[in-house]
Amino acid sequence: MKTEKKCSNCGAWTIWKKQPTDRCTACNELLDPTWLSEKTEREEKERIFIENDFLRIRETDGFGMRAVRKTASVFHFIFAAITWLFLWTVTTFSG
Ligand SMILES: [Zn+2]
Repeated sequence: MKTEKKCSNCGAWTIWKKQPTDRCTACNELLDPTWLSEKTEREEKERIFIENDFLRIRETDGFGMRAVRKTASVFHFIFAAITWLFLWTVTTFSG
């Protein structure tokens, strides 16, 4: 059975497969844009949380694990610095 949904952008009725990626057949606008942005936002927050959580040194960590986390945080910092430097170079010398 096909479900129809009214497009919030143009007001036309369009086929809705209940997928977040479904687009309006009339204007090609996402039928449920809030769902997608909320999902992306949540995933991004989760990713940052996991990343930070991994870099945090815990009381229970042994010597090896502390070394791994310290190395990871150093690499994390270097990577961020390279990204920043790259962006800075591109934006400064592109004109
Ligand atoms: Zn539409």
